[in-house]
Amino acid sequence: MRVIVIGAGLAGLRATEQLLAAGCDVQLVEGGRRPGGRVRTVSAPFAGGQYSESGAEWVDAIHVRMIELLDRFGLERLGPGEQWTTIRRWIHHRGRLMSPDDVRAADPAVLDELDHFDRIIDDATADLADPSRPHLHPRAAALDALSLAHVAAQANLGELASLFKLRDAQGEFAAEPADVSLLFVAQQRAYHAAHSGGEVVLSHRVKGGLSAVAIGLAAGVASHITINEHLVALEQDADGVVVHTDRRLLTADHVVLACALPPLRSVDFRTEMPPALATAVHQLGYGTITKTSVQWPQRGWPKGYATTSGRAQRVYEPTVDQPGEQGILMSYCGGDGGREWARLPEPERIELAANEMKAMHGLQTNAMSGYSRAWSNEQRYGGAYAVYTPGQITAHWQVLRQPWGRVHLAGEHVATCTGYMEGALESGETVAARIVAAG
Ligand SMILES: Cc1cc2nc3c(=O)[nH]c(=O)nc-3n(C[C@H](O)[C@H](O)[C@H](O)COP(=O)(O)OP(=O)(O)OC[C@H]3O[C@@H](n4cnc5c(N)ncnc54)[C@H](O)[C@@H]3O)c2cc1C
Repeated sequence: MRVIVIGAGLAGLRATEQLLAAGCDVQLVEGGRRPGGRVRTVSAPFAGGQYSESGAEWVDAIHVRMIELLDRFGLERLGPGEQWTTIRRWIHHRGRLMSPDDVRAADPAVLDELDHFDRIIDDATADLADPSRPHLHPRAAALDALSLAHVAAQANLGELASLFKLRDAQGEFAAEPADVSLLFVAQQRAYHAAHSGGEVVLSHRVKGGLSAVAIGLAAGVASHITINEHLVALEQDADGVVVHTDRRLLTADHVVLACALPPLRSVDFRTEMPPALATAVHQLGYGTITKTSVQWPQRGWPKGYATTSGRAQRVYEPTVDQPGEQGILMSYCGGDGGREWARLPEPERIELAANEMKAMHGLQTNAMSGYSRAWSNEQRYGGAYAVYTPGQITAHWQVLRQPWGRVHLAGEHVATCTGYMEGALESGETVAARIVAAG
């Protein structure tokens, strides 16, 4: 069986690996010059061998496919691990950097308010029996009509709790609270609960950077990949698919579209898509993240994440477990804020982030270097990752996960573990198994 896979991100690489293992004849076509897609470690501007991740950064302990790959390629997880609880963070607000204890002292109600917020989400999650099928939730339509903004209003959050939850939505979902479906949040929480068994889940960075995972996978399928070649048009009939790239015409029995949906919106689909699929492909929400890393000669800041009411949104140190006197601070901006940053030229973003970092931590030295990546500006991505906006789980979840004849979508946006590297791998496995089963 001949299969063409479009996109050498983790989804496309995994699908290719598994299809080859099943004896298929596979060609993997990648538009960029490197494998990995949204997994992209950056070391170029930094001194002392330091690096930071411009895309995916953390591997959760429950992400078993990722852990298997780290083991396979001999990659080490760094440090003691991070636990994602809001209140453990520092917060910079009204010119003051407050520790979690300071936050509790300044606003004794903050914990209760955050608990109230969480209980509303727990309630929405309680009846979600199968995280792979959130559209079957008994209250699917009602919950999908609501957003995280509704939850915040219902929980009656005060100033600090509102800021924490705004930044959580912008960071985790890369979107404003009003643009995140409550049913989607419940789906994500149900996935987490099903895999963690109620235990605390730690997340780790990877020594040397995550690009090594993509490089390892790509090395295993190297003779099947072409780079710098773009899908531009596609047609299918009962006998097969015809894929037009900017270089050549390819024919096969199946095609896997393992890229984000925004780049597919400009592909010429010469066989008409079913209307529900076309709507889903064109309308699924994509969050925005702009990550800006700045290197400093000394590390003059406290450990841990800091949430700020300033434009930098979240500031933390990706080099916390790397050696050297110098250190990097990262500004992680999502949602409308991430979009605003994306409109600025890269040097302005670096300067703006450096100024906020200086003010926040009272840094006395000048920055050494920096880089910034705005994923929404990049044509082959068009955003950070999928966010199902209100109404989109019930409208699009199932539609996107069905094959369209000989065309199969893969990528984090069609996984159960949506938004994560684990989901990209999961989706690659799902389509490979489906194609092999089709015979
Ligand atoms: C800022 C940011 C932070 C993140 N943080 C984390 C994290 O901490 N942990 C985590 O697990 N996940 C994280 N993620 C998500 C993770 O990076 C993605 O879920 C995953 O890498 C997506 O893989 P993919 O294979 O689905 O898609 P991609 O990585 O997007 O791969 C698709 C490939 O298709 C190619 N392509 C696109 N259009 C065409 C075309 N027309 N022709 C040919 N090729 C094309 C692209 O160049 C790309 O290489 C983050 C993502 C971002 C952006």
